[in-house]
Amino acid sequence: MEKLSNFINGQYVAPSSGRYLDNYEPATGQVYSLIPDSDAQDVEQAVLAAEAAFPAWSTMGIEGRAAILRKLSEGIEANMEAFVAAESKDNGKPLSLAQHVDIPRAVSNFHFFATAIEHFASESHQMEGVGLNYTTRKPIGVVGCISPWNLPLYLFSWKIAPALAAGNCVVAKPSEVTPYTAYMLGKIAKEAGLPDGVLNILHGTGPNVGDAIVKHPKIKAISFTGGTKTGEYIAQTAGPMFKKLSLELGGKNPNIIFADCDFKDALSTTIRSSFANQGQICLCGSRIFIERPIYEQFKEAFVAAMAKNKVSFPTDPEAKMGAVVSKPHMEKILSYIELAKEEGGTILCGGKRKILDGAHAEGYYIEPTIIEGLHYTCRTNQEEIFGPVVTITPFDTEEEALTMANSTQYGLAATVWTSDLKRAHRVADQVQAGIVWVNAWLVRDLRTPFGGVKASGVGREGGWEALRFFTEAKNVFIKY
Ligand code: NAD
Repeated sequence: MEKLSNFINGQYVAPSSGRYLDNYEPATGQVYSLIPDSDAQDVEQAVLAAEAAFPAWSTMGIEGRAAILRKLSEGIEANMEAFVAAESKDNGKPLSLAQHVDIPRAVSNFHFFATAIEHFASESHQMEGVGLNYTTRKPIGVVGCISPWNLPLYLFSWKIAPALAAGNCVVAKPSEVTPYTAYMLGKIAKEAGLPDGVLNILHGTGPNVGDAIVKHPKIKAISFTGGTKTGEYIAQTAGPMFKKLSLELGGKNPNIIFADCDFKDALSTTIRSSFANQGQICLCGSRIFIERPIYEQFKEAFVAAMAKNKVSFPTDPEAKMGAVVSKPHMEKILSYIELAKEEGGTILCGGKRKILDGAHAEGYYIEPTIIEGLHYTCRTNQEEIFGPVVTITPFDTEEEALTMANSTQYGLAATVWTSDLKRAHRVADQVQAGIVWVNAWLVRDLRTPFGGVKASGVGREGGWEALRFFTEAKNVFIKY
């Protein structure tokens, strides 16, 4: 059985505990590799390496850092096929999704921040007749990056790239559920010429190694993406230590469809925004509100489309959906479908685990599930399920749609479908979300602020926001 290693100080090393965790292939339900069960000792080694690497890395100059990050991006691109296969195997997502979304995005993340840092600037404020303020932005030092399993390398690199570009050294932890592509990244980083200790990648559980990263006094900032409960714990731990915190947390996103929308576009995009990556994208729209005049028509077409939304093993070229990420997660999703029934919901399609044949019989597959007849305040409509499960609900007025859309504790993303320009602006303005798409979904410009409001997080990633997060501002005043 293959054993993965930590990547510390430019070397692949075993965890100091000597312990390993099972890594499952969601498509088959079988263990296929072992990952380090790291702990505080490994974090200590990684921090020592990062601290030692910091002076040279942070003063190397922007051009030098940018050149290495570009090479890193090219290194992933050159190994595209291997990364795609590994991501799909580790996560259960269709190969085509890893090929078109996950890995190309990891390539762009490094490339984008390599370029962005070359254009990053700070401000000066002149006080006429008094003096001049100028602001410098210096790297923080050693920073921690902790990422989830749903878009493994995509989100891991979304944090690491700006942290490194800004001149920090990084101690990073991918999800223990999907460690593989992060493991592969160490080798690519080394080949790209990243100096030893600049990027350290540790594997293991949240409570063992994640917590040790959050608590380490020399790690001055934590960039975290994951669940709201974990974010709450991290905030409680890191807050009193005055660490900088970026928290990208859960969501329960509304997809508001007005009767005057482009029906075909709204329908085909809603199929994706509901079920892409088995509904395991933090930006998926899991609560679909449909204006009454088109409710029945939309419902019928949406349910009918599920016949073509094939759930299959990830390497099946016809698969539109693969396996969900783990057995516990599958059980959680299925328990929410049971809850929806108890709450009075009608399952229009799906609602069950799907058992495939042969080697995939024990894989974690769930049929795409559409539920109607639930009140917007019930638990199914308030709690994050993070799987291929959506609810549909009719509405009569814009106010009613907004009341329902804004009723959860979350506020990550929202989608609005309408051809009425004024309404598009009004609803976009009033919906409580950090990201709003009008007549579109998941169109991403890496320069834009990314993040949520309310329990969906604190702070923003992307573009200048990320570079500001990973730098410390200092204002200098000089008297005339
Ligand atoms: P999670 O919170 O269980 O884990 C995320 C990461 O945190 C993992 O690496 C995990 O090992 C680590 N972790 C867990 N406990 C920790 C602790 N006590 N201290 C430090 N680290 C700890 O989340 P998940 O199940 O991996 O991911 C799914 C969640 O992520 C969903 O809620 C989803 O909405 C959210 N998500 C949010 C965004 C966003 O941008 N807002 C993007 C993707 C996923």
